[in-house]
This record gives sequence, C-alpha cells and structure tokens, in this order.
Amino acid sequence: MNDFSKMKEQFSYILNSRRMPHAVLIEGADAKKRREVADFLSKGAVCSGDFRPCEICKNCIKAKANSHPDIYTPKLSGKTNIINVESVRELIKDSSIIPNEADTKVFVLYDVDKCMPEISQNAFLKVLEEPPQSTLFILTAENSKKMLSTILSRVQVFSLDNKNEIDEEVDALAQEVVEGILALSEDKLLFATAKLNNRVLFKEVLKRVCEYLRQGLSYSVGVKNESDIAYSIAKKLTKQRIIGLIELSSKAILKADRNVNMALLCTWLCGEYRRISWQR
Ligand SMILES: [Zn+2]
Repeated sequence: MNDFSKMKEQFSYILNSRRMPHAVLIEGADAKKRREVADFLSKGAVCSGDFRPCEICKNCIKAKANSHPDIYTPKLSGKTNIINVESVRELIKDSSIIPNEADTKVFVLYDVDKCMPEISQNAFLKVLEEPPQSTLFILTAENSKKMLSTILSRVQVFSLDNKNEIDEEVDALAQEVVEGILALSEDKLLFATAKLNNRVLFKEVLKRVCEYLRQGLSYSVGVKNESDIAYSIAKKLTKQRIIGLIELSSKAILKADRNVNMALLCTWLCGEYRRISWQR
C-alpha cells in the first residue's frame, strides 16, 4: 500500500476511534495528494454516518461538492495569494460560532508554508492555543520546517513521505498478536486481539501479522533473517501451522470487510489462532 492510501486509512481510523486532535498538519511533497488527504479528512470530520467518511450522508455529499457550510477555507488575497492577517482574524471570529449542520466546524488552510506569512501565522497561533470546542483545523504544507515552531508544537503533523505514529502502533499491535499466538496461556492473545476492535486497525494489524508469519515461514525453511519475531515463530511452530495461521489471518481480513460485529470477530480470531497453533 502506498503512503497516500495508508494515510487515508490512518485518518479513517482516527476519525472512527474519535481520537481526532484539534489541529493537524498534512505534510508532503505532492501538492495534489496533500489536498486530497485534507479534503478526505474534512469530509470525515463533518460526516454523520457510522463509518466516517461514509460518502453517502448529506454532510459527505455537501463536502464532496465543496458546499458544506461547516467547512471553511480562508480566501487568498493579493498578487501573491496569501492568507493575510484580516482573513485570519475573520477565521478566529468564525471559529467561536457553533457549527451549522455537522458536529464539527472544519477550517482548511492549504499550503500554509507558502501562503501564510509569519505575521498571519502569529495571529493564527491564538486560536491554536485555545481552540474552541468542536473545531478542527487542517493545515497542509510542502515543508513544515518553513513554518513557525510555535505553530508546529500545537499541531499534530502527519507526513505523507515517511512513517508515522499510527504505523508504529500497527507494528506494536501486530507483534503483540504474534507473541500472544506463541504464548502458552490464552490471556495474552485474548488481550491483544481485543484491542483490534476497529475495522481499519484490525485489517492493518492482520496484514502486518501475515508479514511476520511469512518471515517466520521463510526462517523455518532456512532463509535466515534478522527479525527476532521470525526466529520465535520458526522455533515454536511447524511450517504447517504457520501456513494455517497465514490463511486464517487472510480469511479474517475478508471477514472484517463484510460488516460483521468487530467484538465477535476478535473473539473468533483469538479462538481460531489458538486452535491452529496449539491443537494436537
Ligand atoms: Zn458521511
């Protein structure tokens, strides 16, 4: 999966786990991708569907048509197309008014490293320091290093060009699942699989689990690699069992797409992993 679709998946994970920060900065070299991810996120933030963005609710439809009253983009002014201090002040004033139709009011500021002079960034800082309830600020930039550090310290930066926090979370959870599979008692696996209660996270983690299992499989057929986890898999499980676990994980990813109850799916997965890894 490329960084672009990965970031979209990550954002739908954040949107659906209701862990959206007040301000995010999407950084990346590709202007079109930056904009597309920002628009995806603003749509998800106003969406009133169950799985955000649902693409079908009235909020999503208005967002797609660029006509949602709660998604606001400051106008650019002057020959150089900048967001001037007046626009920032207007934005700050507007941010204190509650949203019209959605639960969140979204402010999208594209390419702030180019469009926002220091004086505007300083004016904008005020609202980042004390963000009003139910607002989301989405900023994009080609290079965040060109921005004020005071702004950067108040936004969560997502880079389209490299690994980020969510990636690390997926990695950590996948390792926990594998360790659970290899553990003697069931508790560890039960605990790890219960954390996969989010559909997007579930799929991402299981894809990573499959990668680990494949590494383990190649280890057991003599392809040495540096990974400790691959060594543990090869040492504790037969090839047959590893293959069974890979097949099961792929099956579980397909199941997750079929709108099943996630809590039940996690419990089922735990039981099946145990059955394959420990059956006599
Ligand atoms: Zn929607």
